[in-house]
Amino acid sequence: QRHVVIVGAGMAGVQTAVALREQGFTGPVTLIGAEPHQPYDRPPLSKAVLLGKAEDSAFDIDFEALGVQLRLGVEVTGLRAADHEVDTEAGPVPYDTLVVATGAHPLTLPGGEGVPGVHLLRTLDDAARLKPVLERRHDIVVVGAGWIGAEFATAAREAGCAVTVVEAADRPLAGALPAEVTAPMAAWYAESGTELLLHARVERVEPGRVLLAAAPANPPAPAPAPPRELPADAVVVGIGARPATGWLAGSGAALDPSGALTADDHLRTTLPDVYAVGDCASFPSARYGERLLVHHWDNALQGPRTVAADILGEAAAPYDPVPYFWSEQFGRFVQYAGHHGAADTLLWRGDPAGAAWTVLWLRGDALVALLAVGRPRDLAQGRRLIEQGTPVDRERAADPAVPLKAA
Ligand code: FAD
Repeated sequence: QRHVVIVGAGMAGVQTAVALREQGFTGPVTLIGAEPHQPYDRPPLSKAVLLGKAEDSAFDIDFEALGVQLRLGVEVTGLRAADHEVDTEAGPVPYDTLVVATGAHPLTLPGGEGVPGVHLLRTLDDAARLKPVLERRHDIVVVGAGWIGAEFATAAREAGCAVTVVEAADRPLAGALPAEVTAPMAAWYAESGTELLLHARVERVEPGRVLLAAAPANPPAPAPAPPRELPADAVVVGIGARPATGWLAGSGAALDPSGALTADDHLRTTLPDVYAVGDCASFPSARYGERLLVHHWDNALQGPRTVAADILGEAAAPYDPVPYFWSEQFGRFVQYAGHHGAADTLLWRGDPAGAAWTVLWLRGDALVALLAVGRPRDLAQGRRLIEQGTPVDRERAADPAVPLKAA
């Protein structure tokens, strides 16, 4: 029997082990993870775990019963594909099949690494360090108005902290959504009592304060704004994440410019017997006509099923999901399915000033993506329409009182 070694014991690594067993793989499986903790789920870290509503978010999986050898607290430092071995501090580990599921590392502020009071939010340890910060109701500066920044700000406001979010772009979620859609979302910050500073760059973090760079003279403002100082007992940095593939340097594996392992439509890398799945891998999507790098939970659940099937030699369909994710921010349940581009037509379904609304993106008459705020039924129906690629009637689709369905 082939020995499958999985590197990275996050969602994608764990689900690969589970999928292998579910699909009937009986050979040895070793799951190696750098973190010392029992494998756990990340989404609760910025939600229930942060607020102390849940102690932890460990996966409810009996690895022993599953026949999976867990090696925790072990960092993999290199891959020698010709020898079919990975290297660890504890010595080499041979494999017949390797699955790389090392996820992503959060980006840090330049010069911000190791500065006391500056936090990231990626791991259970990060959340454990942030919990007492919330309990003490500190003044907090969040850098980055992305998904993580918004979720952290939500939790910190709920805990009673004073929260300022500093964003370099002209709007929240600038990398993910167009201005028309983020405009109502920006209002959620103020509504929750969170101050959102746009066009704002952090110059320096000092004990107890954050210094912002002087804003450039920007018409119609006649003169550059003076540098601003924000009181900050703690700073939380949420400015994105990059695939954790640095340890593959010199391995010969092809990486994208983003640092993601370049996988094919069965999540095979360019090295023999080496797969990549989850936040660390990009794959070609025939559905969207481009290579996708997805940093969301559902991708780390679905991808492993394709990997397991391919390892078992089954004729698995190409991996070409309709990407899906959710976010819980400022009391709203936000869900997105699909993938849109700037050229796609945007269609409102409901009033963005209201409590619940949806935005659709159409390519021709086909739905390619949707964002649903407090409308989970739209999400479920829309996701099916995207999967089927059937045309929709624009007028009916824009009417929030009519279920979303094919024309
Ligand atoms: P990871 O979960 O990052 O797991 C990779 C593991 O590999 C890590 O434990 C890491 O320590 C380990 N590793 C890395 N390098 C090595 C090495 N060299 N040797 C050994 N081990 C290594 N998605 C949503 O869709 N909805 C949400 O609401 C949502 N909320 C989130 C909230 C937070 C705070 C975070 C951080 C993420 C959230 N996500 C959410 C994203 C989702 O959690 C990720 O997409 C998912 O965890 C990816 O799984 P993964 O296994 O690919 O990577």
